[in-house]
Amino acid sequence: MRLFWVVFIFLTSSVLAATSEPINPKPIIPAPITPELIVPKSMKATVEIVRVADALWRAEYCFDTPVEMLKFGRPIKAMRATHWSTPTKGLNLTHTDGTAQLQPTVGGTFSCGIINIIPFTDLPDEADYYVFTPFSDGSMTLFTGHLVPTAYIGGVWYDVDFTATYKARSGERVVAAEPDKLGYQFVYFGALAVVETKEAILIIDPIMPASVREKILTGLTKTNALLPKVFGYRVPDKYQIFMAASNLEKNNGTSIKGGALSHQIRFTLVGRGTLRLAETQPLFYPKLAVHETLHLWQNDVWLEQLSGPRQWVHEGGADAIAYEIMRLSGLYDAAAYTSKWQSVEQNCAKLLGSTSVHGGTEAGYYDVFYECGAFANYLVGAALNQTDPGAGILIFWKAMAAWDKEIIMNTDNEGLFFLTMKKLGLRDVQEQALRLFLSEQPDNPEKAIASIKRVFGVMPSKSPVQAEAQGAAQPAL
Ligand SMILES: [Zn+2]
Repeated sequence: MRLFWVVFIFLTSSVLAATSEPINPKPIIPAPITPELIVPKSMKATVEIVRVADALWRAEYCFDTPVEMLKFGRPIKAMRATHWSTPTKGLNLTHTDGTAQLQPTVGGTFSCGIINIIPFTDLPDEADYYVFTPFSDGSMTLFTGHLVPTAYIGGVWYDVDFTATYKARSGERVVAAEPDKLGYQFVYFGALAVVETKEAILIIDPIMPASVREKILTGLTKTNALLPKVFGYRVPDKYQIFMAASNLEKNNGTSIKGGALSHQIRFTLVGRGTLRLAETQPLFYPKLAVHETLHLWQNDVWLEQLSGPRQWVHEGGADAIAYEIMRLSGLYDAAAYTSKWQSVEQNCAKLLGSTSVHGGTEAGYYDVFYECGAFANYLVGAALNQTDPGAGILIFWKAMAAWDKEIIMNTDNEGLFFLTMKKLGLRDVQEQALRLFLSEQPDNPEKAIASIKRVFGVMPSKSPVQAEAQGAAQPAL
């Protein structure tokens, strides 16, 4: 039992940690430019990323306007200081808390600089994407978000618009969402076959067992079929799916990560436990695939604004809608569906014993965004449809998707959630209760959950804490 729990915790946290979204560095507003110092407001540059050898990549950055410094700000503590170096004469790479700066050793400016990169294949502590994921044949995908620098020139930091070239070794191919951009994407370097289906472009590790592959594809296909019916949304043509597997025989552990970016999903499996899971929890992989496909929808509809700054909004939303997709597609029967929502509530209560929802990142409990985030959706769903909160969740997300571009671009993700509650007629007292629930760690999580369920009118029959909620249901709205 104890062993099971350890594996479960590891599995859950690695799956959950997997889906953290890219941290887009906010542009720093340039100071007024004096006539003597004319620099472009939006800097353009080129980068060439080359797979030089099995375990060596090279990134060469070149600027039309010489720069004083490049800063790679998205931190990964265990990576850059040990896996990055510069062979460019006169340049120096320095490291601070997982970030790095490239600059001339003796001051001044430079136009081109090279960084040599040894692939870092560990799971980042920061709940970030894997930087590199190896396939069993030696090919790899690279997440380019850690290679995006800001540039310093004349006292001002600039975001840079990079035109990119990706080069694999001879006999290998490159597959990217935007092959001529740096940005935030997965880029594949290798010789595996590319399979095109009606919906997607697939690169699947040959050692990925058919049972896992088929379960993932089932989740993707069911979601693609239901999104037009439920939300009037069609997933983008030919999105890219990468499935990488390693150490399925040698390593007895279990690490499963899904990561979604715009028009791309990457699944990474490490360890033998990933195979056992396909047998012991047959609906685990389909649900994971549904969750990731919902991120494609979120990235598209909310113009990638939904992913920050409050993770419970997009992760909890993706989980909550995933349960509805699983139910509507018949993958969950009534018992599995009810039991899923009961475990969401119980897991949320457990997590609130260690952290608040907002404090999840700081406390290192990323699961709280998924479990309590989904629970928050359930509350809102219950207020909108007391007898079928799941149907209420879909009403809620249709209204979330109906905001115009300007509101989406100018409202943070949590703000949009509350704005939608208001639009749908939820009461102030419900908004206040949810705000408190998200920001404070309760002394007694079970009691706090029972209490907020009363505020949102959750019917006692839907509750695993029936005794406390008995007879306390309020009319919705
Ligand atoms: Zn996710």
